[in-house]
Amino acid sequence: MPSDSALRIVWIYPDLLSTYGDQGNVLVLEQRARRRGIPTETIHVRSSDPIPETGDIYLIGGGEDRPQILAAERLRRNSGLHRAIASGAALLAVCAGYQIMGSTFGGEEGQPVQGIGLLDISSSRGPARAVGELVAEVDSALGLPVLTGFENHMGVTHLGPGVRPLSKTVAGIGNGDGFEGCYAGHVVGTYLHGPALARNPALADLLLSWRVGQLAPLDDRHFEALRRERLDAVLQG
Ligand code: GLN
Repeated sequence: MPSDSALRIVWIYPDLLSTYGDQGNVLVLEQRARRRGIPTETIHVRSSDPIPETGDIYLIGGGEDRPQILAAERLRRNSGLHRAIASGAALLAVCAGYQIMGSTFGGEEGQPVQGIGLLDISSSRGPARAVGELVAEVDSALGLPVLTGFENHMGVTHLGPGVRPLSKTVAGIGNGDGFEGCYAGHVVGTYLHGPALARNPALADLLLSWRVGQLAPLDDRHFEALRRERLDAVLQG
């Protein structure tokens, strides 16, 4: 059994939402914590199970329309995630998981489906599928380098006054309004796959720092090579 001081990472609904290797976000967080001597415990919460309230960092991934609707229904019945966030836990929600955090999103026929209202956003089906590489400059308040990743979604997302845009798109569609993702408190929503935290280890460190404070730097040469290759391919291609 891990000690009480282990960082608890909660991976929500691997049975419904985990497209494009989004589970890699869990691995990156685990690895970056352990490389700094921080023990971790990862909990995989299937959609038949309640969300534990005692996690430190929660992760939810992308998915097709039907599993997304099912995931939203199950999360609506369960207030564990709301309670965890209210007590200071961090959350990274990707694509379908991001849309679910809002008040509504578009179902497979474009019908509005109720989300869980954790973020002040609403999503609907956009005019065309957004597919391809995405590059975006992060809100300077967060002090992160440019974001890289890829997107594949029909939805567009409207931000309310209760959230701030995570970043401004340089390439790609993101929310559909010139911005990509949003954040509020310790909750980050994004359309980025890649997985997002492998492409953007500084974002992983931001989530970790919200729970454990200042972090020692790591040798990120491999991550940097991946980022450089992807950024060059988009910006010079
Ligand atoms: N089903 C959602 C959309 O198409 C989310 C897609 C995804 O998670 N990749 O907008």
